[in-house]
Amino acid sequence: MFKRLLNRPPLLVIFEPDKQISILIGAHEDLGHKGVQSTFETIHYRFFWPHMYTDIKHHVQSCHECQILLKTVACRVHTISWRGEYD
Ligand SMILES: [Zn+2]
Repeated sequence: MFKRLLNRPPLLVIFEPDKQISILIGAHEDLGHKGVQSTFETIHYRFFWPHMYTDIKHHVQSCHECQILLKTVACRVHTISWRGEYD
């Protein structure tokens, strides 16, 4: 089943939760663990399912690798700003 929108290619409607999760994880990881909006735009270009944005937001916010990356970036930013104040 496809969902048709004006001026866009038809979106493949995904009903099976297992396939939704597989698409979501694949897109998020292929993008290099980008944020909610980038992951949503990538998936929403070809697929549709109800509450897609909420599912993506929940997945990205609970992704273990993203949590580690955020902590690493936060530590680097703190280190850089600290050094900048005293150099
Ligand atoms: Zn991630």
